[in-house]
Amino acid sequence: MYLTEDDITRLSDHLKVAVPDFERRYVYRTKNIRRLRVPRHAQCEFLESGGCSVHEAKPTQCRTFPYWPELLDSRRAWHKTGSWCPGIGQGELVNIESANAQAEVMRAAHPHLYK
Ligand code: SF4
Repeated sequence: MYLTEDDITRLSDHLKVAVPDFERRYVYRTKNIRRLRVPRHAQCEFLESGGCSVHEAKPTQCRTFPYWPELLDSRRAWHKTGSWCPGIGQGELVNIESANAQAEVMRAAHPHLYK
């Protein structure tokens, strides 16, 4: 998962650890990109049997899923994602304006992904 600086601050606060300590343990950083490190034993350090252990503070990319621009822009990509994501197609309908607003949040948070 990609991280914004705000994501890092929010997650550090949530876990009650200093930002540098959080970064050392959980963040892979290159010149322009910050990502959650992927542990060997799991898909995400924060994924537990009951779900996301940092739900209230989870990264923007997680919060906006599945309303990412690349999924809203492609019916094929949306259906492909729905083939493995148990949440897609369930629950109450979400209007397109709300979905597009989430896509804009994602676009603004990670412009390098949407050049
Ligand atoms: S929602 Fe939580 S468990 Fe899932 S990828 Fe994001 S941080 Fe990790």
